[in-house]
Amino acid sequence: EDDARLLAQRDEDELEEEDDRVPPVLAIIGRPNVGKSTLVNRILGRREAVVEDVPGVTRDRVSYSAEWMGREFTVVDTGGWEHDAKGIHARVAEQAEIAADAADAIVFVVDSAVGATATDEAVVRMLRRKKKPVFLVANKVDDIAQEADAASLWSLGFGQPYPVSALHGRGTADLLDDVMEKLPEFSAAGGLVPRGGPRRVALIGRPNVGKSSLLNKLAGSERVVVDNFAGTTRDPVDELIELGGRTWRFVDTAGIRRRQHMAQGADYYASLRTQSALDKAEVAVVLLAVDEVLSEQDVRILQMTIDSGRALVLAFNKWDLLDEDRRRYLEREIEQDLAHVEWAPRVNISAKTGWHKDKLVPALDRALESWDKRIPTGKLNAFLGELVAAHPHPVRGGKQPRILFGTQASTRPPRFVLFTTGFLDPGYRRFITRRLRETFGFEGTPIEVSMRIRE
Ligand code: GDP
Ligand code: GDP
Repeated sequence: EDDARLLAQRDEDELEEEDDRVPPVLAIIGRPNVGKSTLVNRILGRREAVVEDVPGVTRDRVSYSAEWMGREFTVVDTGGWEHDAKGIHARVAEQAEIAADAADAIVFVVDSAVGATATDEAVVRMLRRKKKPVFLVANKVDDIAQEADAASLWSLGFGQPYPVSALHGRGTADLLDDVMEKLPEFSAAGGLVPRGGPRRVALIGRPNVGKSSLLNKLAGSERVVVDNFAGTTRDPVDELIELGGRTWRFVDTAGIRRRQHMAQGADYYASLRTQSALDKAEVAVVLLAVDEVLSEQDVRILQMTIDSGRALVLAFNKWDLLDEDRRRYLEREIEQDLAHVEWAPRVNISAKTGWHKDKLVPALDRALESWDKRIPTGKLNAFLGELVAAHPHPVRGGKQPRILFGTQASTRPPRFVLFTTGFLDPGYRRFITRRLRETFGFEGTPIEVSMRIRE
């Protein structure tokens, strides 16, 4: 137990430092099947040890902590794309761009046997605009005979490609040596969510819920400051808006204002925009239109938001259109379909008239405060001690897993790690999560509870 406590303390010390200074980020991008995951595993040299229990999480990007020559960095794996034949081109470019924005350096993987495709060329154009170090990897060069294939990738314009076999480890050491030279000591990109500056808000919701109306109402006509950032040359992406005496950064507003692709694949593009906005935001306002029944798309977008780990405010829009029948129905929807987000603050608004728009800031503040909240280790363990004493884990097959120690591993959102002697039932972990909320609040933020099993 002392051992577990020491390890937890060490983890915590490391994580405290990470609060302001995060290790540099290396993104691995490329088309499906070029070998990105294989390369990530090769870089890590191991499988992830942490047992995560985050229900419903399917992430497009996974980040891992890696080390090379004694230096720590974060690898963002952009694998796990859907092999959707129709949209794959756009999706690869979009995902690659998100990862590139969040990274300090980029490894761009191409399958040397296939050569450069049109999708690869689209990614190249995007990467040029980013002005970040790019390492072109010609993967699947399993032996010297295949190096000729790699040489043809010169044409992509990133110089001599690195001939690599992710599968066998060939060439990866040379690649990593050069990567480390270009990575800064701490991340300048700040990981996926930049810290500092005005708080970053995303307006999220399916087409026609009223995002652009709300944006216009909040911005007013003259107060809008258009801001160019993150190497985007064509579109003003963010808008700085003053609310409640402070400046807020509304991210990805170009996508809201443009109202693109409305006719075809609206659903698909809406979810792309949602993901990209969530990546840049600290807090999401998910809009739901009360004059219409909660749709499958609403539910999906809400789930994406929860999974993103951002703070969350629910805005029930078009309140001016609500009649008595619909109101009763809405109450049922909230109780049934939205029960899993009962922790999110709710505001009833009309983006059209501006009614209640001043309720938004207090809700954003509450959600962000929870998102940033850290429970001191002593307090957390006092809570766990009492909880476990009153409600011990049920005995399973003659064994009773014990919680040795707990620590809050991170904020934004709060993540808790429990050091245990065995696997905790999902039901028991949900119970702990519920009690954490009851005891410490956390209004407006998802929280995660994971385990590390110490034999
Ligand atoms: P991802 O979709 O880009 O993450 O690609 P994966 O890492 O899943 O790899 C796709 C396929 O290529 C798998 O069957 C791998 O085993 C294979 N692969 C990956 N790297 C290499 C390599 O260096 N050489 C060979 N011959 N196959 C590889
Ligand atoms: P977006 O696609 O989410 O950006 O939605 P818009 O802001 O373009 O709004 C879609 C439609 O709903 C437009 O016709 C708006 O005028 C209307 N709308 C938006 N908010 C409200 C509201 O609060 N009340 C009413 N009655 N209509 C609204």
